[in-house]
Amino acid sequence: MQTTTDASVTTGLADAVQMLLPALDQFLRFEDQDLAATEYAQWRAVLDEPLPEQGTGAEATLKLLKEVVIPHGLRTGAPGFAGWVTTMPTVVPSVAAFSASIAGAQRWFQQSYNFLEQLALEWLKQLLSLPPSFQGTFNSGGSVANLIALGAARQWACEQRGIDAAGDGLEALHKPRLYASNQIHHVVHRAAAVLGLGRRALVQLPTDDSFRLDVHALGEQLRRDRRDGCTPIAVIASAGTVNTGAIDPLREILQLCREEQVWLHVDGAYGGFGILDSEVAPLFEGFAQADSIAVDPHKWLAVPLGCGATFVRDRGLLGRAFTLEPAEYLEGAARDSESAGSQFDSLGHPFHDFNVEQSARSRGVTVWAALKEMGAEGMRARVRRHNFFARQLAARVQASPVLELLSPVTLSICCFRYVPLELRGRDTVTQTLNDLNREIVKRLHSAHHYVPSGTELNGAFAIRPCYINPRTTLADVDGLAQEVERLGPQVWHEHQGEGIVS
Ligand SMILES: *Cc1c(COP(=O)(O)O)cnc(C)c1O
Repeated sequence: MQTTTDASVTTGLADAVQMLLPALDQFLRFEDQDLAATEYAQWRAVLDEPLPEQGTGAEATLKLLKEVVIPHGLRTGAPGFAGWVTTMPTVVPSVAAFSASIAGAQRWFQQSYNFLEQLALEWLKQLLSLPPSFQGTFNSGGSVANLIALGAARQWACEQRGIDAAGDGLEALHKPRLYASNQIHHVVHRAAAVLGLGRRALVQLPTDDSFRLDVHALGEQLRRDRRDGCTPIAVIASAGTVNTGAIDPLREILQLCREEQVWLHVDGAYGGFGILDSEVAPLFEGFAQADSIAVDPHKWLAVPLGCGATFVRDRGLLGRAFTLEPAEYLEGAARDSESAGSQFDSLGHPFHDFNVEQSARSRGVTVWAALKEMGAEGMRARVRRHNFFARQLAARVQASPVLELLSPVTLSICCFRYVPLELRGRDTVTQTLNDLNREIVKRLHSAHHYVPSGTELNGAFAIRPCYINPRTTLADVDGLAQEVERLGPQVWHEHQGEGIVS
């Protein structure tokens, strides 16, 4: 490897990549134990050091990456991992992201990565059946995607009352309110705080038996708050809660929002892509009529982490809320000519005017790569398969004498628990069952073959696999149920008379 006068290597990319490839391939086979846990002390001891005064050079650094960092990485792509709503990216989007770190280091200017940023947003609209007029923008994930959407909602609600929130701030805004169900993702609370509305501006409403927003309660609350002089900023519907996958009744909520003239935002970070499953698609009626939508390609699309997307109905409004340079969003659009004098003649598609980031990595290329590789039909097949997994598990749970389903299955999440035969049908044992099932999840995690997460539903602890991992198979789904049936009695007997059971 050759260096310039700089202390870093600036050539020899192929050699550097070659050095890491075997370790990455090995990691991707998921044959090893959970080395991050079993060798915790060892790898920490190697990596934990103060800032070196003298560098060790390229080769030694890459060697550490290969031997210490990569083998102790995060195994969310392992086939049995169904713990979170994010997953390890598939191969082609990962490599696309790597290519962008070299050849598309910045998403600005008239160059291929800037164009793919735009094209990928267009493709996402087509995939999700959103109107072409929506303005999209990539951002770091669902947290920021929701923040941007609610920033647009705030701008709109304020403009309705003659206030320019972006220019003048919120001094003239009276008692702002956001509305969502009690199942809303907690990033929305933070977005309310960051936008100056305040966490307590978020009114959390009850849900029905299927964990969907109670629209009647929403209507009552909206009318009551209006009488009290509050300013409604937005209703936030979930299209796929992360607890159970419930989809709020979008059509009814949309109708209410129209009547009350309130902005409708849909948080579809996880479940927005659920619309691709024709069995679930009817529940999305009203989705495309929302004022703003957040989706997370770094979830079901399995592109590298750090990729969320916001779509807002009104391009100009999004620009007024977030423009970096006044009116750049109107003037800075890429010239669509066959050739340009120089790539630096224009900033290209002006995403910095629709967002809170100036410099940003190229994200569109990862979404473009995933969709180019799989096509819309490949993505639909993935979503259908994962939703089928959850339904299949639910059927398996309902057929078992010792498993109990804790919520209906809508998307790819299935919430269930183990109930010892002798405790069946007794509802005085919630605490015991919670402790028991928590322990089961703990043991599943340390055996690391089937890794679900847990959640609480009306006080009941649920084992909660969420299927979005492209590497998961139906055998892994059945394997989890089987493993719970095996561990359940074991933990139950071990602990009878001891800690968890009284
Ligand atoms: C994941 C998720 C978020 C948060 O998104 P991040 O990408 O983790 O920042 C918000 N809402 C929903 C419904 C989600 O699934």
